[in-house]
Amino acid sequence: MSTLSYRLPQKRALVTELPGPKSTELGARRRAAVAAGVGSSVPVYAADADGGVIVDVDGNSLIDLGAGIAVTSVGASDPRVAQAVSEQAAHFTHTCFMVTPYESYVRVAEELAALTPGDHEKRTVLFNSGAEAVENAVKVARLATGRMAVVAFDHAYHGRTNLTMALTAKSMPYKTNFGPFAPEVYRMPMSYPFRDEAGLTGEQAARRAITQIEKQIGADGVAAIILEPIQGEGGFIVPAPGFLPTLVSWARANGIVFIADEVQTGFARTGSWFACEDEQIVPDIITMAKGIAGGLPLSAITGRAELLDAVHPGGLGGTYGGNPIACAAALATIETMRELDLPARARQIGETATTRLRALAAEVPAIGDVRGRGAMIAVELVKPGTALPDADLTKAIAAKALEQGVIVLTCGTYGNVIRLLPPLVIDDDLLDDALTVLEQAIRAATA
Ligand SMILES: *Cc1c(COP(=O)(O)O)cnc(C)c1O
Repeated sequence: MSTLSYRLPQKRALVTELPGPKSTELGARRRAAVAAGVGSSVPVYAADADGGVIVDVDGNSLIDLGAGIAVTSVGASDPRVAQAVSEQAAHFTHTCFMVTPYESYVRVAEELAALTPGDHEKRTVLFNSGAEAVENAVKVARLATGRMAVVAFDHAYHGRTNLTMALTAKSMPYKTNFGPFAPEVYRMPMSYPFRDEAGLTGEQAARRAITQIEKQIGADGVAAIILEPIQGEGGFIVPAPGFLPTLVSWARANGIVFIADEVQTGFARTGSWFACEDEQIVPDIITMAKGIAGGLPLSAITGRAELLDAVHPGGLGGTYGGNPIACAAALATIETMRELDLPARARQIGETATTRLRALAAEVPAIGDVRGRGAMIAVELVKPGTALPDADLTKAIAAKALEQGVIVLTCGTYGNVIRLLPPLVIDDDLLDDALTVLEQAIRAATA
């Protein structure tokens, strides 16, 4: 990473307690103005961010191990992205691609055709959010197949809109009392090596799901199977090898559209451009968002030309979808990722972090599992000697890390997973410091 220079000092430095007085005051204003239903992981308010640090309004410099949920992989103020955004804003902020189209949308589509797995003919549509991409992938699959049923999996997370709530597995906080949900969504068992019966292979886990699909729906009723190649909010669950390829080949044999939801895993995060590559699977449609545009709201679906082109003109779109500023940011992000070889950097980050966390796991019985791929790394916490999830311990660890100036996120169906998603441009010293803080937090919380 010697090619990188930073605008802000890449150092953890606390000058107040957290939250400091200015963040505390903003917290009070927020409670009077912002709906309680919007949560925040930390009570500090951001003033600046660069590389691996977020500086808060009180002048504290915190290490960011969340990247705004896997979004700012190139950093939160990548100079190339910042310049592309301001140049585009000085020309036009919006025309609506459905009214007066522009080149950058087409270029993003060309880039996505080249970057995504498979060398078949592809088409792309751009949207604003991950949930919107998922909704549209399902629309396309239903129209193209003339079938209705959609298969999703245990522990899945696909968003917060009505259809994507239906696809998401976890009730609290995502679904509770928000129904009724979209119909024709069926949930199947996942491959979760840490929690499956010992020895269940990926292929066996896939067969278990396939048998249920055949029994509950019938293969010829299924429009699409949607799956995150590594589940994100559900707990960074890496399915056993063979699970994905078995499902994909069964889907293909039965005319079912396989949708890979790579909203979280995509764009260099797992050490490849897309996580599907690691098992050589080629999805029919891939959904992308989060890391795609250096923090600007953009999402996409890219898929087989015959599926996407089956939709009548006007059937897909949206006022802001593929906004020109977001497209400029995406092109700059892709350039930065290529130039810095961020997939390789994600692999290095993963090696550094998992080596240290596995060594810690050997000493701390509450660490049930350390897993992940590239810079998508998880620690699953349990009651020692069992597989019983320990959500309280997980919260305590995140709180202790924050006290020392490190932002870590939690996730998991059982709320018992610490997840690391650092910006891929974090430097080695800062990453080491953050891991030391996390280790100390885990030791202190389990002592
Ligand atoms: C975050 C996420 C979504 C939803 O994206 P939004 O931009 O929040 O709508 C969908 N799928 C996966 C796998 C995600 O991680």
